[in-house]
Amino acid sequence: MSSLSIAAYFPFRRVCISTQSVAAQSDLAVVHVVPDRRFRPVCHRCGTAGTIQQHEVRSIRDLNFASAQMHLRCSYRKIYCRQCGQVVVEDLGFFEPYQRVTTRLARTLHELCKVMTVSDVARHYGLDWKTVKNIDKAFLEEQYGQSDYEGLRILSVDEIAVKKGHRYMTVVIDYVTGRVVWMSKDRKKKTLDAFFAGMTDEQRQRLEAIAMDMWQPYIASVQEAVAHVKIVFDLFHVVAAFNKVIDKVRISEKAKASKEHKDVFRGAKYLLLKRNVRKKKARQHLKQLLDLNEMLMKVMLLRDKLPRIWRYRHRWYAERALDDWCRLARVVGHPAVAAFADMLERHRKGILNHCDYPIHTSKLEGINNKIKVIKRDAYGYHDERYFALKVIQAFDPKCSN
Ligand SMILES: [Zn+2]
Repeated sequence: MSSLSIAAYFPFRRVCISTQSVAAQSDLAVVHVVPDRRFRPVCHRCGTAGTIQQHEVRSIRDLNFASAQMHLRCSYRKIYCRQCGQVVVEDLGFFEPYQRVTTRLARTLHELCKVMTVSDVARHYGLDWKTVKNIDKAFLEEQYGQSDYEGLRILSVDEIAVKKGHRYMTVVIDYVTGRVVWMSKDRKKKTLDAFFAGMTDEQRQRLEAIAMDMWQPYIASVQEAVAHVKIVFDLFHVVAAFNKVIDKVRISEKAKASKEHKDVFRGAKYLLLKRNVRKKKARQHLKQLLDLNEMLMKVMLLRDKLPRIWRYRHRWYAERALDDWCRLARVVGHPAVAAFADMLERHRKGILNHCDYPIHTSKLEGINNKIKVIKRDAYGYHDERYFALKVIQAFDPKCSN
């Protein structure tokens, strides 16, 4: 190999390097490439040889070269392809016709997006974030664009708030493998209907159970599309729903509190929702609040008792625990708490189904937290489809990150 040639760094079969230059600060390198005349130009769509119509030049970004950004000044031809019946860009084998980056740079950007944010990758290469995102999205679409419904038996359906209180997305998870199977915007009945519609009859028949929130549109969708499947209301989703009740009680009790007591309510929201309050000062604050307000104290006791219903594997005991809890909840005397007890009663069957399908809270919580982290990076681009594809990729057991 010649020690003077840089050609080996550009193993592109159909072009030759004509000239090269590096800017004085060595941060910009330009390499001119021209079509190798030994090859007849071929159509990028069908690969058929065509007749040359016009010559064009385009600048295409390639992988960085030492400390320099590499730009290929690439001459190429537009040809008439008889097969396609139109003028097309010739296929030179190292860039896609409408891309401004080489195929190998595109692949590198996609790989980097697995471990870095789009903005960081864009900054590193001096590219626009939109360019990087669209390249990454195209790779993801190719790999994950079609849902893989194989081997599904037990599912978990979840809603993700992408814009608090405004926009939601529905996520379907294979509970057994932890793989995200499907994700789409909204949390309506038709959202989940679309998921089931993508399955074959056989795949639908193989489903046994679905863990979910007590959310009527999802329930209706399951009952209609896969009536044989057992709906399971798991503890994770029920605790999340009860946390909203705690918050309602906090707000109404704060409104009733005297001026001096209102201070104790300040900053109490997350204190009440946290499972383990570790810091001494925070623990004292919580104790002060619960000593002061009996209603909140009772509601917190109810929350601590809630897991008991899910502790039993035997329906008879689980049923007793549920009845006990609802009775206590009604004694508290707050409309939101009583309404919650009514709701549990109405969803009795699905709650008791956990005896047959014990869905683990920690597993669902882990998945949820991981999605939240991805949301921070990926939803910042306001592209729901991209966010969905990133989530599916992150939970792919075959993906190395
Ligand atoms: Zn063609």
